[in-house]
This record gives sequence, structure tokens and C-alpha cells, in this order.
Amino acid sequence: MTTSTIHGFPRIGPRRELKTATEGHWASRVSAGDLEDTARDLRRRTWELLRDAGLGQIPSNHFSLYDQVLDTIQLVGAVPQRFRGAGDELATYFAMARGAADAPAMEMTKWFDTNYHYIVPELGPDTAFELAAEPKPLAELAEAAALGIETRPVLVGPVTFLLLGKPAAGAPAGFEPLSLLDPLLDVYQELLARLSDAGAAWVQLDEPAFVQDRSEVELAALERAYRRLGGLARRPRLLVASYFDHLGDALGRLVAAPVDGLALDFTRGGDRNAELLAAAGGLDGRRLLAGVVDGRNVWANDLEASLERLATLKGLAGEVVVSSSCSLQHVPIDLDAETGLDPELRPWLAFARQKVDELTTLARGMTEGTGAIADALAANREALARRRGSARVRDTSVRQRLAAVDADDLRRGSSYEVRRKAQRERLGLPPLPTTTIGSFPQTGDVRAARAALRRGELDQTGYRDRMRAEIDSVVGLQERLGLDVLVHGEPERNDMVQYFAEQLDGYATTELGWVQSYGTRYVRPPILFGDVRRPRPMTVEWIGYAQSRTGRPVKGMLTGPVTMLAWSFVRDDQPERDTAMQVALALRDEVQDLERSGVAIIQVDEPALREHLPLRRGRQGGYLAWALDSFRLATSGVLDETQIHTHMCYSKFGEVLPTLAALDADVAYIETARSGMGLLEDLQQAEYAQGIGPGVYDIHSPRVPPVSELRDLLAEALATLGPDRLWVNPDCGLKTRAYEEVVAALTNMVEAAAEVRATLR
Ligand code: GLN
Ligand code: ZN
Repeated sequence: MTTSTIHGFPRIGPRRELKTATEGHWASRVSAGDLEDTARDLRRRTWELLRDAGLGQIPSNHFSLYDQVLDTIQLVGAVPQRFRGAGDELATYFAMARGAADAPAMEMTKWFDTNYHYIVPELGPDTAFELAAEPKPLAELAEAAALGIETRPVLVGPVTFLLLGKPAAGAPAGFEPLSLLDPLLDVYQELLARLSDAGAAWVQLDEPAFVQDRSEVELAALERAYRRLGGLARRPRLLVASYFDHLGDALGRLVAAPVDGLALDFTRGGDRNAELLAAAGGLDGRRLLAGVVDGRNVWANDLEASLERLATLKGLAGEVVVSSSCSLQHVPIDLDAETGLDPELRPWLAFARQKVDELTTLARGMTEGTGAIADALAANREALARRRGSARVRDTSVRQRLAAVDADDLRRGSSYEVRRKAQRERLGLPPLPTTTIGSFPQTGDVRAARAALRRGELDQTGYRDRMRAEIDSVVGLQERLGLDVLVHGEPERNDMVQYFAEQLDGYATTELGWVQSYGTRYVRPPILFGDVRRPRPMTVEWIGYAQSRTGRPVKGMLTGPVTMLAWSFVRDDQPERDTAMQVALALRDEVQDLERSGVAIIQVDEPALREHLPLRRGRQGGYLAWALDSFRLATSGVLDETQIHTHMCYSKFGEVLPTLAALDADVAYIETARSGMGLLEDLQQAEYAQGIGPGVYDIHSPRVPPVSELRDLLAEALATLGPDRLWVNPDCGLKTRAYEEVVAALTNMVEAAAEVRATLR
């Protein structure tokens, strides 16, 4: 008999119950007990849903109040010293995520190449691991058992935990978190013994860090860890899980280790995983979790293709379990809740609940033969055929236009040097021009107006007037602050991707399709399902209005093609490059419309450029090539005197610096505040010659940087980069900040720029 499972289910609740309860708790409106009640209720509902859907093996400990890595930090006693006085366990937990009085929050970063963020463990020689007094995996195992549901606790694996960590602030230079493997394994050993005593038959240890290229030392650590854990007498059966790509060299090592099962992704890197597994001689007699249903997109599975894949895997393991490729936390919960969705699209889609049904259907087909699922297969075949043939998916004019794109369309008319002169004459800006990244604080008023528009309580004209009033106020403020290049503030945008997705053909948006981004921040990624076309200009009116209110230049503000893909669910029926180039064509038209309307500076943001980099180095070159082409296609259709700006977030730029230069934007704003201008040297080495605005302060923090600090940073940047191409700006948009902080920080920034400018005379 073939059975089915998943790695995890969304934990936020169908109506975002977890967010409401958690934020209520932070605001002291919801007691710890009530928060726990909500959490317990959500866990119960999920387990029961999975059981009632007929899922064969049900996971536990995939629930989290904030983040699974943060859970693990507390589970293994890796709480940094500065949080030790924060209070009880729950208070300490949230203090690590959000910061406390004298203890800044722990860093947060992307979970592999997803849009989920985890809390980064801080590890040092003083880290003294110790199993929590009441380990969460044990509590949840017992909680499910009390409902009569047997579960498989899911844990972050010990090696991945260390590889996700960073050396703590006080750690000696060269400290390697991996050096803590043995003491950490002691804690896992104790936990496994207790889980075994508590009746867990299986436990899942997630080691996704090994779908990235890993050194021999790291691979050896993995092997050592699982030889040790596998060799324990008192333990549940061990399932080592991977997802997001193939396991590469780690696969053979794990097959050789005394573990009882392996979970492999057969969606991303699937063919390679199959090859590697065959080459390793298969999992003789052991269990394989075959991840054939993609946990990261919203497309209905191709059931027949999955059955074929499963058939080829049968000979490679003792038992094949049909599985999602990864946790379903990366997709919305329930398609059925989405009442406003275009009925033509609906059969093409599967959210978490629908994916569970796909898994149980596949398992049934494997066990009872395809005859038993004939109806499901027929409906699936028809849905896929309709999707392929739909006029909503294929737009001939878009395809023809893309086919006609040639190398000239990806190149500006003149070199940067020539453009620079033309732009200088047109704009007449002082050296070290001051500006911002685009958004100003989104006030409750602005959000209320949008909600009223949605509910029909405010009409289009009323809404436009409210937004215009907001633009007036933002423009006026920037003039008073003395900024040189202004923005309209982006009040009309709910989100920098969704705003455009709502206006482009080929995109659908959801009402309840929330996905956790981090903690209580959830997003609703739009669904890019078909050929993309821009029916009409998207931003020209707003920018034109802002420009009409001031004599200073106002920047046009667009979201670039890579980010439009990275923060959406993207069609899986053509290469990402083709999709990105279609988005680029739509943006190119917008850029040219802005130019024609008299806008002199157009900023095309690509905050996701770095984070969308594929996990395996072998795939990165291909990705960077299309990222570049699509940006250039979007931005190269303008005259020399039109200045193209771009912006990227996040500090680890090593990998993309050459790409930054090749984007050939006239000015790039990048985050440097948190890495302390260290990036400037890299910039020189990458032979980046264009304008550059290294963010001088961190907008993620409410702290207002003093003039002296900003002046020193600018002086340093000036010394390295020279006066001709340095811009002065914060490191990201101001949307999430309060006006008080923004006014204070920008006042200081303008003052610092003036002081440094004065030294140039
Ligand atoms: N222009 C956007 C803003 O200012 C850029 C946001 C981002 O980089 N994530 O909000
Ligand atoms: Zn940014």
C-alpha cells in the first residue's frame, strides 16, 4: 500500500487567526493563555483536516508561533545572553524576534530562495546547548496523540541549524558554527530518546542546507551527524528531509548513513535527484518520501506525470510515500475560500488543502491502480488541457512582439559617459544629490481610504482626491526638507508588486491568499498565469500630478521584472526568462510613457534580484543572464537625457556586483547601512562606474542617525567613490516608518550632505 504525507501546513489560520492573536498579545490585549488557546485550536484544526482528508502520515511540530528556526533556537538552548532577562519562555521567544529594551532583535534572513524569513541563530564558543525544559516537539506529539492522531515530529536538522547560523558578535575571528556539532548532537540525542519514549515511531530531520553547494567539511559533518544519530539505540526511525533542489553530493552520503528514510524534492532538481538516487543504488528496504506535488507554487499537479515519476521510483526504495516537495507553508490555505477568482482559472490551481487532496489521490492511484482514480485523472487531464489552450494564457501579439526583440532593444542608445553629460545638463543637480527610495509612511488614513474604495464607500474620484492630497503633503514635506530629487511617496500602492499585478493582463490577485513572510507579516503573492500585457498606463497620472506640484524633478517609480516574478506565483509552463521578458515589455512601454510625459528620472526597483538567485551555483549564470536582459529590455528604450535609477535591498552583494554594473542603470541605490560601507571596496573592484547611492541609514530601525554619523559615512563614501557619482539616500523605502522618525532622519541626512558638499568647494 502506498501512503501520503506533507512536510507541514500553513500555520497562520484560514482567517489569519494567528496574526490577530499574536499582535493582540504584543499589544497586551490577548493573554498568553488566550494566545496559546488560539494556537492549540489552529493545530487541532490542521491535524483534523489532514486526517479527514485521508492523509496517511501526519506531521507535527510544523506549527510555529513565529518561526521554526526560532523555535529550534529555544529548543536547543541557543538563546543569546542579551535575552536572558527578558522574562518567561514566551516573552524571551518574542524578544528574540522583535527585540527588547536593551536587546536588539536577532537578524532575520530569507529561508533559502523562498520569500519566508527565518531568525538567524547566533552561535559562539560560549553557546551552551541544553534541551528546553518542555520541548515543543514532545508537547505537540502528545497534543496530537490526545486527539487520537499519530504524528511524525518535524525538526530542523542539526547540521542545517548550524549552517543557517552566524558567528555571535563576540565570537573570535574565524569561529565556525559547525564546530558546535558535537554538543548540539548531544541535545538531539536526548530529544530523540525522549520522543522515542513518548511513542514517536518516526521523526523528520530537515537538512535543506544540502541542496546548496557544500564543502567537503560540511558534507563530512552531515555524514558524521547521521552516523551518530542513526547509531543510537533509543530513537524513533529517522527520516532526513531535503527540499528546494537536488541533494547533490549529500545524497550518497545520506544513503550510506544508518537512517531509515529520505525525503527528496522531485519538482525542483527532480531529475537529478532521481539520477543520484539510482546511482547510489537506491534506498534498499527503506522509506522514500517522494516530493512530487510542488509545495511552492499554486498550480494543479499533473497527476499522470506524477504517477509516472512515482512508478520509476518504486524500485529505488522499500517504500515510496507520496509527498509534497516541501512544507505547504509557502502557499495559501484554501482555494475554495477564494470566491472572487476568475472561474476559468480555478481548475488550474491548487492551494494547500487542494494539494493534500492531490496527494491522497496519487496514493490511492498507486495502491489501487489508476482505475480507482479515473474520474480525478480525467478532470485533471481536462483542466491541464484547458489551461494550455486558453486564450488567457497565450496572447499571440505578445509572443510576436517578444520574438522580434533583438540585441539593440537591450542596449541604451549611448554609453554611460555620453548619457551622463546629457543628464547633467538637463537636471542641473548639485553634487551629492539627496533623495529617497520611493515610499513615504503609509498612514492609517491612506490605508483606510483604500479599504473604503474596496468596500465601495469611496468612489474613484474620492479616492483619487485623497491620494492627491497625500501626494501634495509628501511633495511639500520633501521641499521643506530640502531634498533635491523628489518622489510621489507611493500612497496609491498596497504593495509594490500587487499594485502592478492588478493592472496587468496575465496576472490574478487573491483576497485571502495569505502566505507568511515572517512572524505576523503575511503577503498575498499575485498569480502570474498568462502572457503579460499592459492594457493602459499604470503610473503616469500619479507621477504627472506629483510633478505638477513642484519645480524639482520627481522620479517615476516602477517595480522591475525580476521582482515582479520573485514575489508572485509564476506560471510553470514556460521558462522564467520568457515570463520576465514579457513583463519587461510591459514595463518598457510604461517607462516610455513616463518619458513622453516629461519625467526625467525613472527608477526601476529590483529588490529581489539577489534573493532570487538560484541555490545551486550551476544555475546562477543562466538566471543572471535573464535577470539582466529583462531589466535592460524594460529600461533601454529611453533617450540619453532620461536617467534610469535602480534599487536593490539586502547586503550580501558579492554575487551580483558584476550584474549591477551590467544592468547599466545610470544610478543604483543599494543597502550598505547595515554592512557599514564595506561594500564600497567591492564596488571599486567590480569596476562599477555609474552613479551610486549607498544607503546611509537603516530604515528597518526606528533609530534616528545623528548628523555626525551620516557625515562620516558620506565622507568615507566620497573618498572611495569621488564626488561625481555619489548620491545620498536612505537604504530602502520609508513605508513602514513613522513620520516623526522619517522627518528627523531626513533632516539629518540633508544636513550631512550639505556639510560634506561644502568641503568640495
Ligand atoms: N520604491 C520602493 C519603496 O520605496 C522600494 C521598496 C523595496 O526596495 N523593497 O518602498
Ligand atoms: Zn529596498
